[in-house]
Amino acid sequence: MGKGTVCRVLCQENRRLVRTTSLTTRSPRKGERDGVDYHFVDEKKFHELKEQGAFLEWAKVHGNFYATLAQEVEELRQKDYDVLLEIDVQGAAQIRNSSVEGVYIFLLPPSMEELWRRIMGRGSDTPEAMKERFNNAYHELSEVWKYDYVVINDDISRAARTIEGIIMAEKCRVEKNKQFLTDFIEKGDKY
Ligand code: 5GP
Repeated sequence: MGKGTVCRVLCQENRRLVRTTSLTTRSPRKGERDGVDYHFVDEKKFHELKEQGAFLEWAKVHGNFYATLAQEVEELRQKDYDVLLEIDVQGAAQIRNSSVEGVYIFLLPPSMEELWRRIMGRGSDTPEAMKERFNNAYHELSEVWKYDYVVINDDISRAARTIEGIIMAEKCRVEKNKQFLTDFIEKGDKY
């Protein structure tokens, strides 16, 4: 919970980082805008696009469908953006099993009590839907072992800074800088 806010803060503060706009079949919540928060589509359209192979990944969460458009990710990558996907564990598993390179960060609520409180505090859903959200979040926890990093979401800006640090560290990996390093070292021959 609060994942959306952390992602928004991250993208506001990092010009090279762009969050994708997922498709969903759920109805917009108050204040949500089509094309900004999500592309809101009906199930017919969703399944049409799925059949066309338009999705990098997709999942059914709390009875609604969600998906990331492959083309959007591809276009952003070509423009050299870092692409941020705020997706559930099923979607993450699909990408992990594909050829797409990624860093997987699990955003953890500070405690179970806090997770419960945040879900109940939302108030925009029915009690059954809120209970389902909690159960879903609880079950998602069993997937944490497959992720590369865990960040505790106790404070929005601290969580955003920690994720920024992870992104920066990932960019400094020797294996991701092989060409640069080879060229750099080769220049020493001239001296
Ligand atoms: P919400 O309906 O509260 O915006 O999102 C419900 C869940 O769906 C969250 O866990 C969110 O991360 C996940 N979600 C949002 N967009 C996508 C997506 O494109 N793919 C997948 N797999 N999950 C998504």
